[in-house]
Amino acid sequence: MTNIDLANVIFPNITKTIDDYIKMYPKRNLSETQFVTRFAPSPTGFMHIGNFMMALIDYMIAKNTNGVFYLRNEDTDKAREVDSAVDLIMNTLKHYNIEPTEYEYKGKIVGNYGPYIQSERKEIYHTFIKHLIEIGRAYPCFCKKEYLDEMRASQEEMKKRTGYYGVYAKCRKISPDEAIERIKNGEKYVIRFRSKGDFDIQIPFEDLVKGKLHLSENDIDDVIMKSDNLLPTYHFAHVVDDFLMHTTHVVRGEEWLPSVTKHIEMFESFGFTAPKYIHTPLIMKKDGDSIRKISKRKDPEALMKYYEEKGYPALAVIESVMTIMNSNYEEWHRDNPDKMFYDFTYDPAKMSASGALYDLDKLDNISKEMISKMTKEKLYEEAYTWSKTYSKSLQELIESDSEYFKSIINIEREQAKPRKDIAKYSDIENLIWYMYDDKFNKVDYEYQKITDKEEIKNILNTYINEYYNESDDKETWFNKIKEMCDKLGYASNMKEYKKNPEAFKGNVADVSTVLRVSLTSKSMTPDLYEIMQLLGKDRIINRFNLVK
Ligand code: GLU
Repeated sequence: MTNIDLANVIFPNITKTIDDYIKMYPKRNLSETQFVTRFAPSPTGFMHIGNFMMALIDYMIAKNTNGVFYLRNEDTDKAREVDSAVDLIMNTLKHYNIEPTEYEYKGKIVGNYGPYIQSERKEIYHTFIKHLIEIGRAYPCFCKKEYLDEMRASQEEMKKRTGYYGVYAKCRKISPDEAIERIKNGEKYVIRFRSKGDFDIQIPFEDLVKGKLHLSENDIDDVIMKSDNLLPTYHFAHVVDDFLMHTTHVVRGEEWLPSVTKHIEMFESFGFTAPKYIHTPLIMKKDGDSIRKISKRKDPEALMKYYEEKGYPALAVIESVMTIMNSNYEEWHRDNPDKMFYDFTYDPAKMSASGALYDLDKLDNISKEMISKMTKEKLYEEAYTWSKTYSKSLQELIESDSEYFKSIINIEREQAKPRKDIAKYSDIENLIWYMYDDKFNKVDYEYQKITDKEEIKNILNTYINEYYNESDDKETWFNKIKEMCDKLGYASNMKEYKKNPEAFKGNVADVSTVLRVSLTSKSMTPDLYEIMQLLGKDRIINRFNLVK
């Protein structure tokens, strides 16, 4: 009996050859400088910021080179699979407008290189495994868990490398005759790759982020097909899929770097060329004085749903991630303020190889800047859309009077130096609630210098009876406050006040604060004149009357 017989016993129904698939999935119609990337998440129900960064790199590389960015669902680990995971992935990519051009979703395949769901590619993998068995580069392994556990324990005890290699690879030596007999007897088996590597030999490997490395050759006979569901392991599926889908650049987490020599050997066993690799660093965060890995258990911002729930503009999140993808991104963006992030050329060599430090304060700044530049209409639309999913109370405020809402958010907006106080849509309600009468009933007033209630009432009464006029322009309005100051013994001129503070009860800023706090409860607000214009005389009087 030969390996060909063995291959036929294991895969009696596989009649295609790898050449059939090579013909079915011909080379893409792209030039050498157009790159093909893929985002290949496992559907575990989370979209980590690290996954997002990889997807963004994939998108950027394809966009920069006018290439292809496709999505592959790596669902071979059925135990970890979560039903809604693919929706989460698709929705997230859509939210950020970095959608793949080839994918498979809700039963629809878009693109000529599918299926794009690994569990639907079983026949393809079996064909490729059958080929490896035929040429003697894969074999069935009957080792039981007990043997593998013992092997590992003894390797650890003897301080040897762990794994199924060399003398430990018992089933490597089984003849096709014996293997066929044991299979016919119903023994359970997995399929392993037969390595020809020598761990003592170093091979050069160039990772596009980490640079030129020297790695030991692979000598481990890894499992390539599992026994229970006959699906391939990650290593094997990666080789077959990225070959048939013509991926030019594999972007994946650096946890895969130690496995890259396995993959290179597997590509070589078929006579294929391995793609280029971009192993992305871990995403880190500052925690007090130390820097540590961002963790989905401890840090809500580790998962992409955080940014949607908080209501950060999608583009602000992209910008913040771009800053950790390339060290020169911020400078480029400063020099090219009107360009979009995808006009930037992503360069893996300019990515930190040791860890990417993500900074939420930076995101807040980027986002505040971005939101400050939105027109009131745009901000209204964005905030309203967000509120419908994430904040019933903001939704109600907006729906109670959308024009009024727009006027409020337009205070100190649509001008050369707009106000930058909103970092995310979930901040808005907290910044504007006092503009709504039914929320303004029981408030704590943040009075500052002037706290005497009789004096406060005196200021408010004098103001409304003698100085307030709804139709005054801003300058007249302020002049009148100053006039009132003179009358009541407060300095209307700050310079004079500073020269001789004893001569006055206080100054115009103190008096304005009394007005401001009485009308809003807050000592810090956007422009008081604009707030008063929006409130109008009746509501101003009502609010003054609430001060007890
Ligand atoms: N499914 C693998 C993961 O989620 C993908 C790694 C890769 O991109 O090749 O880690």
